[in-house]
Amino acid sequence: MAPPATDPQEEPVTSTVVVLDPARPEGALVDPSVPLVRIDDQGLTRGDGVFETMRAVDGRVQKFSAHHRRLTASTRLAQLPVPSEELCRRAVELALAHAAPGGDGGLGAEHSVKITVSRGTPEDGPWSWIVVSPVPESTFRQRREGVDVVLLPRGHDPAHDAGYPWLLPGAKTLSYAINMAALRHARSLGAEEAIFTAGGRRVLEGATSSVVCARVRDGNRVLVTPEPSHGILPGTTQAKIFDAARRDGWELGYGPLYPADLMTSDAVWLVSSVRLAVPVRRLDAQPLPVDPGLTRLVTGYVTAD
Ligand code: PLP
Repeated sequence: MAPPATDPQEEPVTSTVVVLDPARPEGALVDPSVPLVRIDDQGLTRGDGVFETMRAVDGRVQKFSAHHRRLTASTRLAQLPVPSEELCRRAVELALAHAAPGGDGGLGAEHSVKITVSRGTPEDGPWSWIVVSPVPESTFRQRREGVDVVLLPRGHDPAHDAGYPWLLPGAKTLSYAINMAALRHARSLGAEEAIFTAGGRRVLEGATSSVVCARVRDGNRVLVTPEPSHGILPGTTQAKIFDAARRDGWELGYGPLYPADLMTSDAVWLVSSVRLAVPVRRLDAQPLPVDPGLTRLVTGYVTAD
């Protein structure tokens, strides 16, 4: 497998930051180069908080309401306050109005927009902020060229977490240390991305993405993804692809998926809000079919208004 050309996390970013404040409905624009987070903030010291990452194109955030719904679900599970959709929208508008020019991968000027709700300090309590950054070239490259992926065991089946609210099943928490370690492990194996599996090698999700595969046989077009309610993050991108695909006549399936199902698919993608649909070109060093026409179609489902 070819080693990754660049590590997206090492690319310099120019970010705009707005702190949410119910007393100032449009939020407060702050200088991203001055200290903002206290050293005892529990978002920092314990990963105790939740977040959403969205894609803005030409200054407009895609599927804002779906992200706010999931943010609301995450904050409920984590017993954190949720900033209202109106407050978030106005703060995002302010951040985008002051952002550096968006990245250009041929689909408009693109920014990533991240909303974080942290537990904060014991004295000051929870707070929220928004960071807007241009989408980096490495994301556009992955969309164009695809990625090599390895399957990594998740260690336990997250479907078993469902009945235990303290395990925060389905919440998008700040605790991504394991997901980042999985990406580092994937890179040490010469790949760029990881897909987690549960017992019996059932496919779950990518480290920061959902998995979608397509089968196109004898006039039948089927899209399949692992069951979103089984302890994995319910992806807003996968949901939008499936809504549009249903209207376009595709059959839809919700797993279970095993490595052999991915190997025998006509296309496999990692999908998420900013990456859109990135083709998987190798799985555990085995080549997978890549179909640029299908990738364009699925990308069109995500980017449609
Ligand atoms: N699964 C995980 C673990 C993720 O981190 C993400 C996105 O960051 C997704 C799935 C895809 O979610 P979405 O499509 O809403 O961006």
